[in-house]
Amino acid sequence: MAQLSKESEKNLLMRVPAFVRFFAAGILTFGLLTSEPAAAARDQNFDAWLQDLKQEALRGGISQATIDLALAEVTPIARVIELDQKQPEFTQTFWNYLDKRVTPARVERARKLLATHRDLLQRVQARYGVQPRFLVSFWGLESNFGDYTGGFSVIGALATLAYDERRGDFFRAQLMDALRIIDQGHISAQAMQGSWAGAMGQVQFIPSTFMGHAVDFDGDGRRDLWASLPDIFGSAANYLSAIGWRGDETWGREVRLPKGFDLELADLTLRKPIAAWQALGIRRVDGEDLPRADMQAAIILPAGYKGPAFMVYGNFRSILNWNRSILYAVAVGHLADRIAGLPSLSTARPESERPLSRADVEVMQTLLASRGLDPGTPDGVVGARTRAALKTYQRQVGMAPDGYPSFEVLDALRQSAGNASRGD
Ligand code: CA
Repeated sequence: MAQLSKESEKNLLMRVPAFVRFFAAGILTFGLLTSEPAAAARDQNFDAWLQDLKQEALRGGISQATIDLALAEVTPIARVIELDQKQPEFTQTFWNYLDKRVTPARVERARKLLATHRDLLQRVQARYGVQPRFLVSFWGLESNFGDYTGGFSVIGALATLAYDERRGDFFRAQLMDALRIIDQGHISAQAMQGSWAGAMGQVQFIPSTFMGHAVDFDGDGRRDLWASLPDIFGSAANYLSAIGWRGDETWGREVRLPKGFDLELADLTLRKPIAAWQALGIRRVDGEDLPRADMQAAIILPAGYKGPAFMVYGNFRSILNWNRSILYAVAVGHLADRIAGLPSLSTARPESERPLSRADVEVMQTLLASRGLDPGTPDGVVGARTRAALKTYQRQVGMAPDGYPSFEVLDALRQSAGNASRGD
């Protein structure tokens, strides 16, 4: 889904009191626990909120007819709240994520679809400068080539989330844009289906991305991201171009690090010319020299120092602009490579990949904090601060400083804590 950052979701999940308040209210409203007077009071609150929203929409230039039609039947959707509150029990591991998304069947289908739509994709490339294999990769990852575009009423889902105080302002703005899209005649309120968070159509644009970047590539007067492939590819390419995509560059590549490589240099924010990485001993996975292109690159280790290393370019940042998950960005790049006939990753898979649970991560964060480091509020979610604190800890105790949350580092932290309490 475009533009919903993992970090911001994490921060919001931490505001537990608001969530508890809303969920309690939700239970009453949605009749899971029947309490007639409270339910009636809550409905009145929603109705009052909706009246206010309708006034704002009218002031914002949306027609009365659209407001009446689109918001006539709207009520909070319990399932949207449930999905919004859902917290995964385990952390996502690299191979599990990648293997689920870049399957042989998906690669095969992507190649066929690229061949089928080659003419269209090349016309889109000529206008916006995005290579067909990347457009097909985004399309495959966002909706399995249009198979899954989400079955929620976008207006209903966004109204539910806008009414929730935790991210009310963000979703209220999205709801206004959704009404604008209907008002402009691109899609009817009824046909405007999407994900529980309001991501729409075959490349899952949220309404503000649609307003800013969707295009009418087939020229029928409507921007249709649900059914028009020209509009879908054109819009994805136009958006990528706006967020810095370079059509003459690829996303990155898997590389081989030299023995004794300083892991501190593996950092998305640390960019060097490819030639500088070559001088530091980094090579292609087959041992050959790196490309002689005048490009800035960063080295990343999304599965820690034991996993594959990647050298990533500016387009990798554009993918992160679309969706801030590093695993998502690697999946987009790798699927695009496989579509082009490049091989699977060369780094061997670990025999087993045991994911850390939220509880494990919370213990890790608590132990890091007790050492005077700053992993953020212990919430069981690994973010940038937790990674930075892990890196510092690893450096302090002489472990490979990759900032990767593994059982190895959790065990070391537990042992350090045990030693400290015994006064060693
Ligand atoms: Ca169109």
